[in-house]
Amino acid sequence: MRNDAIIIGGSFAGLSAAIQLARANRSVCVVDTGTPRNRFASASHGFFGQDGLPPYEMLATAREKVAAYPSVRFVDSAAVQANADEGGFAVTLADGRRLLGRKLALAFGLKDTLPDIPGVTERWGQTVLHCPYCHGFEFLGRPLGVLSVLPLSVHQAQLIPEWGPTTFFLNGGAIPDEPTRALLAARHVTIETAPIIGLEGDAPKLDGVRLADGRLVEIAALYLAPRTSFQSDIASQLGCALENGPVGPVIKTDAMKLTSVPGVYAAGDITRPMHNATFASADGVMAGTAIHRELVFQPLAA
Ligand SMILES: Cc1cc2nc3c(=O)[nH]c(=O)nc-3n(C[C@H](O)[C@H](O)[C@H](O)COP(=O)(O)OP(=O)(O)OC[C@H]3O[C@@H](n4cnc5c(N)ncnc54)[C@H](O)[C@@H]3O)c2cc1C
Repeated sequence: MRNDAIIIGGSFAGLSAAIQLARANRSVCVVDTGTPRNRFASASHGFFGQDGLPPYEMLATAREKVAAYPSVRFVDSAAVQANADEGGFAVTLADGRRLLGRKLALAFGLKDTLPDIPGVTERWGQTVLHCPYCHGFEFLGRPLGVLSVLPLSVHQAQLIPEWGPTTFFLNGGAIPDEPTRALLAARHVTIETAPIIGLEGDAPKLDGVRLADGRLVEIAALYLAPRTSFQSDIASQLGCALENGPVGPVIKTDAMKLTSVPGVYAAGDITRPMHNATFASADGVMAGTAIHRELVFQPLAA
């Protein structure tokens, strides 16, 4: 059976796309491996009406709501390949099964590459963080750190003092130029030049950053901007145009979330430079409704 749409990724973006199609009674198959990007955090913040809930709880509720529609099917597997065929698209799963769809929505999310500093990985999503809007209020007024990893880190170092007194850790890297140092000074940011040995504390708690010269700089949370990459290479397989975002590549889409490949839509973190669950859901809603409109108004093209 050929589905009206196959959605690769069943998290904030994918489920939001699915429910729009489900409510139009279109056949939708959602393929998902269950690894949303924020799975390392014990609570998600800022999402309308669901502030502070665990990410997996939010997603389980959302999935249950989507699954209540009779035209939706879930497949808990990895999509490993996708290609155009005469009826739309064929998606191959890790176990070799093939799914057929008239339209395709990519919502497979990003993965983060964390800096190779001892103590970072086991604190990711708890006391080592990327976004103060998601996880900042919890550390309000306490000493905080920003790790220099990308040019964007200077911007982060200027932002974080909003939540607490901030140290900018250069980790032995280049010292910012005079105008940048002036901007940081205006935000009362302390610059720490020494290389970092590791993070200390009973993980996931963070007591501070141990420097190569032996000092411990006490902080409650460390912010950093990890480089990102796609969880799947399916966008490249399909020939979707990509563009450079500040932390990694993103899939180019128009305002309706259509990629450069006709019939292929993309939504969520993989399509935008700024990432959060609300944006991802909004993208999914747009992709789902746009796919439905294309199914209605261009039936012969599918
Ligand atoms: C540590 C951390 C904490 C965060 N906290 C917050 C917060 O508090 N509030 C907030 O708004 N945002 C938060 N975010 C951002 C938020 O996680 C993302 O913006 C959001 O998850 C993006 O949703 P998405 O649907 O685009 O992708 P994801 O949520 O990453 O979902 C992608 C889905 O695709 C599936 N998938 C991947 N590859 C395949 C494949 N080949 N086949 C089938 N399925 C596949 C995955 O299993 C996953 O379920 C946080 C991010 C991080 C890293």
